[in-house]
Order: sequence, then C-alpha cells, then structure tokens
Amino acid sequence: MCGIIGIIGTPNAAKESYLGLMMLQHRGQDSAGILAYDKNTHTFSLEKNLGHISSAISEQKIQEIPAASALGHTRYSTIGKALLKDIQPLHINYPFGIGMVHNGNIVNTEEVSKKLIAENQRFLFTNNDLELMMNILAEGLIAGKTDFNFDKIKTAVQSLYQEIQGGYSSLTLLAGKGMLAFKDPNGIRPMVWGKRELTLEEKEKNQSSLQFAYAFASESNALQLLGYENIQELAAGEIIFIEENGKVHQAQLGENRPRPCMFEWIYFANADSKIWNKSVYQLRLKFGQALASSIQATEAQFDIVVPVPDTSRPSAIALSENLNIPYREVLIKNRYAQRTFILNSQKDRDKMIKLKLSVVKEEVAGKNILLVDDSIVRGTTSKRIIKLLKQNGAASVSIASTCPPIISPCFYGIDFPTPQELVASGKSLKELALAIDADHVFYMDIEKFKSLFEELNTCMACVDKDYPTQTNHLDTMINKRVQHEPSHLSGIY
Ligand code: AMP
Repeated sequence: MCGIIGIIGTPNAAKESYLGLMMLQHRGQDSAGILAYDKNTHTFSLEKNLGHISSAISEQKIQEIPAASALGHTRYSTIGKALLKDIQPLHINYPFGIGMVHNGNIVNTEEVSKKLIAENQRFLFTNNDLELMMNILAEGLIAGKTDFNFDKIKTAVQSLYQEIQGGYSSLTLLAGKGMLAFKDPNGIRPMVWGKRELTLEEKEKNQSSLQFAYAFASESNALQLLGYENIQELAAGEIIFIEENGKVHQAQLGENRPRPCMFEWIYFANADSKIWNKSVYQLRLKFGQALASSIQATEAQFDIVVPVPDTSRPSAIALSENLNIPYREVLIKNRYAQRTFILNSQKDRDKMIKLKLSVVKEEVAGKNILLVDDSIVRGTTSKRIIKLLKQNGAASVSIASTCPPIISPCFYGIDFPTPQELVASGKSLKELALAIDADHVFYMDIEKFKSLFEELNTCMACVDKDYPTQTNHLDTMINKRVQHEPSHLSGIY
C-alpha cells in the first residue's frame, strides 16, 4: 500500500504536496518522493529517498521549488526489497515529460513486461510495477496520428485498462499539458479529489487567469488539511484530466464495478478520513458494536476491554460500551522506539518488545482480558501481546478481531503473504487460539461485516477468496511474495 498526492494550479504545488504527503505517512514508510514541474522554465525537480518523508525529502528544497504542479508518493513495498531505484515518482521523457505515481499492485507484470520488450523495445530499469504502467500509458499517447487532446488520453487509458490487471489508483504529470488521474475499473484503491479558489497572492504569482487549484490524494484527510473543498471519491474506472490552463475533463471509462478494499476501513486508512464517502472512524465504531453482539451471544465474561494500539481504539471503545465492560488502555506504546536490527538474540528481541510496548501491570494482574485488534495476519502481534499480558499476571486473555479471518493473500497492494504464513488459514478457532496462546478467539461475522458497508460491494478476497480480477497470474504473485522481505512484518514489531 502507498500514499499518493497530486496538486495542480497553485505556485505552492511542491510545498502543498509535501504537507499533504505528511498526512499520508501511515500509508507507507519505506521511501518517499516528490516530483515538481515548473511550466515557466519547463523543468522537473525530483526529491526522493528511502525512509520517512521528513528524512527522505528536504523540506527546505521543496519550499524553494516554484512549481505549479507536483506529485508526491510514500511507499509501502509489498514486492521486492525497498530499493533506491524503485522509489516513486518515476519519470520518462518520451513522447514528452511524464512523471507518475500509483497506489496498488499489478498482477500480470510478467506478461506486460514481456510484451513491452517484444513489441515496443521498452526495457525496464526498476522492479516497480509502476514502470510498466507508465510505459504502457506512454505507448498509448504515441499511438495514432491525432494531436494531443483528451480523446487521445482516454484512448491511452482505455488500452491500459485492457493490458493491465490489478488494483491501482494513479496520478500522472504530463509536462506542459496537465495532470491525469485514474482508478482501475474495480476502484480497489482509494483516491479523492477536490478544488479550492486561489488566493490573490497565488493569482498574482501565476500571472494567468487561473481561478482554482485542484488536488488529488489517497485519503481525504490530506486535502482537508490543505483547504480543498468539495472532496469526492473518484469512481471505479473514472479518469480526470486537469489542463495546465485549469480546464477540467472527466470521463467514465470501463465498467464502473467498484470493489473497494475493505482493509482500508479496518486498518489502513487514517481514522479522520472518509473512504468512498464513509467515515473510517464511524465504521470502526460500528465494527465494535457488531463484534459486541456476537460476543454477547456466547455469554463469555470479561473484566476489561483492552485495545491493541492504535487502530483498534474506536472499535474497542464501542465494544466496551455495548458489553458494559470497562475500557482500559493498559498497553502503552513508546512513540520514540524505532525498529532496530542490531538486536540479534531472542533475549534482545524480547527486550525490544518491552521497549516498544509496556504494560500497566496494576490494571492487568488477575483480570480476564478481552483484547481487541483490527486483524490477525501472521499472528505475531497477538501472540506477543497475549504473552506480555500473561507475564504481567492476567488471569486469561481472549482476543476479538474486527476483521474476519484472513485466509488468502492480497494481490492488490496489502502485504498479506502466502496462505502458509496466514495464521488463520486452515485452522479452526480452537487451533488458532492454541497457536497464539489465546483463551478464546472471536471474529467479526462475515455477513454482519458485509452489511455494515451498506451499498458498497467491497473487495474482501483475503477473507472470501472472491478476487475481482482474473486469477490466472496469482501463482506467480505468490512466488514473488515468498522472495519479498517486508520492512513492516506486523503492526507493532
Ligand atoms: P500480525 O502480527 O501479522 O498478525 O499482524 C496483525 C497486526 O499488524 C495488527 O495489530 C494490525 O494492526 C497490524 N497490521 C495489519 N496489517 C498490516 C500490514 N499490512 N502492515 C503492517 N501492519 C499491519
């Protein structure tokens, strides 16, 4: 998963991209980059590096870039190692300057790269699937004899939809022309857009008749911070092109069969965002209420409800209110402890866990605890936390997960690995409880879960194996997963 942002129309485009990107840091911490285009000098500026945004990009340099359009990206790698050459934005120079970012994953990469080499002699420099997309788009913009116009863009994106399978929301900066945004025909990954009136100062600096600036981002919280209004989700298969002169073109390509990823609301998106117009925080409250009614039916008894920080807080609060059991934040996260690789022995690693997460022993000793987490993926987090609570004297520790059992890999941008690594895969509830040392495991009921999304037909292939794209490439993807070394093995550790 990744965070993307694009700004066009304001002379502060680079600065705004940086600020907006900061609101998307939670979507990826492996690397970050900003590409800005100055239409007066016809030059691109690119700042990118490994690590968090504040260390990867020089804020001062960004402040000084006089660009009227810019793209930003923060990366969470799901395939391959986090390498310098793979950092987005990527760019090419033919048929004209093109810079690009995306959030998502392409599933038929082998097929597309073979075709690009055989038919177009386009050789690849990175392991990033965005490079394939960018080259396919570039080929589409070259094809035919017509001049550059919106029809030409539509045809290029249409053929990209035919060639490329997967889940992707993407932004493209076309030098001297404008900014293009599109989502795959299933709309799996989120992206919103908004506009705001330019200030007098901005209008003077622009020296043009532009009235508005436009912005696109993975999540609404970024656009809210920057003061953009009328924030709307792009439809599945929708494309928007904003010309440098401010003219807006919009078209619905493809079938518009939205299957937004449910894991955005479960874990990924920030609680202050709206995804597909549904508040992430409010849906997390509803997850807690729904879980409470399932647990109530079992007549299990608990002394306290404890959230695994931070995502599960709203759900744990709603669950505690509905079960009438006290809510206690007894797991204290150390905000300043960074991941470290110099701790080699198990003893060292145990110390690290304690450094990252400490326990309020006085509230835990002798208690029957209901732990609430958003998900159980490999089971590492829950197993370690349950052990920690028991070491601190808990009488029993059960766990409730707002996400139904994750049993199948995700191929659209979330690091849910091979079935063998998914701890719930192939296990009964009792076997799972045994594997993570829990007294009981409670899951959100799948049908109840689906109903909470109302009219949205979300993608929950990781839970029900109903993949929205063709599945003939998925074995190759699983093999790539086996070779992948994620830097974010699980939430806290
Ligand atoms: P695990 O420890 O593998 O079972 O992962 C579950 C924990 O990691 C939960 O506490 C989640 O909040 C968090 N989490 C879930 N999905 C991801 C992900 N894709 N990347 C990082 N953390 C995650």
